[in-house]
Amino acid sequence: MVRKTVYLLFITSLLAFSNDDYDRQREQMVNRQIINRGISHELTIEAMRAVPRHEFVPQAQRRNAYSDSPLPIGYGQTISQPYIVAYMTDIIQPESHHRVLEIGAGSGYHAAVISKVVDRVYTIEIIPELGESAKERLEQQGFDNVEVKIADGYYGWEEHAPFDAIVVTAAAEHIPPPLIEQLKDGGKMVIPVGSPFFVQQLMLVEKKGEKITTRNLMPVRFVPFRRAGD
Ligand code: SAH
Repeated sequence: MVRKTVYLLFITSLLAFSNDDYDRQREQMVNRQIINRGISHELTIEAMRAVPRHEFVPQAQRRNAYSDSPLPIGYGQTISQPYIVAYMTDIIQPESHHRVLEIGAGSGYHAAVISKVVDRVYTIEIIPELGESAKERLEQQGFDNVEVKIADGYYGWEEHAPFDAIVVTAAAEHIPPPLIEQLKDGGKMVIPVGSPFFVQQLMLVEKKGEKITTRNLMPVRFVPFRRAGD
């Protein structure tokens, strides 16, 4: 009995330590990878501090959850590098009343980060298994202002349009016209554009009335934007 209690106490303390450890690693990630590299939007920084990235990666990757790189999440897909998640969140200038659409839910991590800043996030995933587990994970973690749909995100999410911002996390060969249509007047979209086999350009697309402007932000490497039937 005593032995069992001691054993249980030991296990509990190990678990407690590992949670502390993740908190420490996350704080370090935010300082070194986010703030030191020039992200200054307070709400984005707070969101990166708040979302437990280790809960969004497969068990085998948990120890790498706060490293400065993308990580595999199964089905040939990846969760983006923390800096890229923060950068893409910052660049859309999210505000608390905003409604944001994400294409490429993947693990659900990026949607969780955005959901800490804005009113509502809609996210679409084309791989059903990833979409289902992202949905479950987000629910379990209490991210109740995120809605996940399994579909080809090329067509956006008409029912909830227009959006203040759209974040695309897979590399498209062109900007899907339905996404431009579903952007609010004054809205911003961030999207990696280019061939899936080369370096792509992360682009900022802004809609002002009938006018669409685009700006190249930086070279990036994302998994390909797929189409239903691929
Ligand atoms: N934002 C994710 C990153 C996932 S990687 C995260 O935080 O984990 C990009 C994701 O886009 C992959 O899961 C891929 O399956 C998905 N994807 C690719 N093409 C898509 C499309 N046409 N519609 C919706 N999702 C798509």
